[in-house]
Amino acid sequence: MGRFIFVYIDNFKQINDTLGHSAGDKLLVHISELLKSDKENIYYLSKLGEDEFSIILDNVNCREDVIRRTERILELIRQPWSTDNHEFHISASIGIAMYPDDGDNFYDLMKYGNMAMYHVKQKGKNDYYFYQEDLGKRISFNTFIINQIKRAIAEEQFKLQYQPIIDLKTGDLYGLESLLRWHHPKRGYISPLEYIPLIEETGQILDVTSYILKVAIRQKKLWQDKGYQGFHLGVNLSNKSLMKCGIDVELEKLLAEYDINPKEFVLEVTETAFVDNVNYCIDSLIGVKKLGVKIALDDFGTGYSSLAQLRSLPINFIKIDKMFINNITKSRQDELLVKTIIDLAHNMDLGVVAEGIETKEQRDLLCQLGCDYGQGFYFAKPLDAIDVESIYLSKVKANV
Ligand code: C2E
Ligand code: MG
Ligand code: MG
Repeated sequence: MGRFIFVYIDNFKQINDTLGHSAGDKLLVHISELLKSDKENIYYLSKLGEDEFSIILDNVNCREDVIRRTERILELIRQPWSTDNHEFHISASIGIAMYPDDGDNFYDLMKYGNMAMYHVKQKGKNDYYFYQEDLGKRISFNTFIINQIKRAIAEEQFKLQYQPIIDLKTGDLYGLESLLRWHHPKRGYISPLEYIPLIEETGQILDVTSYILKVAIRQKKLWQDKGYQGFHLGVNLSNKSLMKCGIDVELEKLLAEYDINPKEFVLEVTETAFVDNVNYCIDSLIGVKKLGVKIALDDFGTGYSSLAQLRSLPINFIKIDKMFINNITKSRQDELLVKTIIDLAHNMDLGVVAEGIETKEQRDLLCQLGCDYGQGFYFAKPLDAIDVESIYLSKVKANV
């Protein structure tokens, strides 16, 4: 039974534009050769547009088969490709439509495969997605979000909340993580997880990041003027913002303008930023670190960064993802894993923050394992600036 998959080559236009169409043609030949070289699977391939292929998978019995073969295609395409002394990391966005469930004719399958592929592109590319009936609704929701961002910035619909990070040894406040909150006038609260990947793709994230940096640094200044100092303030930096030229200059200017000590400012970046852009990102981070700003590697363990890479990153902390903390008191294996991460980080002179601590037992165990800092609902949910002030900062002031 045939299954239809719709493959879009993510970086194709960039290659055509920078190296010319003959390089683009070489890439297409390279991809078809790669697929031909896969002796285990046969692909019926046709080129639909400049950077789009359709593939019919024959002889597949179930969804798992389709997943396995689609992952294989992604894996083949992701192999680095060189031409004219340039090396490229190619990726693809793949939409899947299933015959006969999604459609029993070529046009429907093509339409639905294309929609599923478009969804992958909106969500950050380099992945696959099966067509689902509600996909049309989702795509229009995503488009709605993208159209609303500019207005949201202009009308100050975005706010920041701040979640305390606690020194596990003393129980004192170590810092705050700024978290973005968007209350849309009609749609209500929309989670950052829903729109950050979308606006990374459109590039609107750069405006949002500039806005967030300004709001956070201005808030730190307001607190400073009231005498609240000696704690760190962190901001999440998306991958694209990290790659933007001059993030260090922007930050330096803002910190100077508001008279904030860079040593009390933290940028949280994720591992995925480094997968394709290692050197680029490291250069930006070195610039930021030179200012004295600290850098935390967020969601540690969920991306693909290797230990060798960890050694070369200019970071000060790692934040262990909540996923590893969830079962730490119930699973000996998870406990050992977290202990290993903590020891490894300490051996590299890095501080460790555990994210998503929800119980006293988790806190106690992490403390016992030597974890430095903790964050999570057990201590506090993300709070408005005014509540941070009354609950936490008044104590910081008292301690000074
Ligand atoms: P993150 O940076 O890892 O942030 C931690 C997330 O975990 C936050 O969700 C926080 O509310 C949640 N959290 C903290 N403690 C607990 C806990 O004990 N239990 C549970 N269940 N959750 C906990 P939030 O605010 O929804 O943010 C989700 C993600 O969105 C963030 O993950 C970050 O990747 C992204 N994000 C948030 N704000 C920004 C921002 O200003 N800029 C960028 N680029 N990304 C942001
Ligand atoms: Mg974070
Ligand atoms: Mg995190």
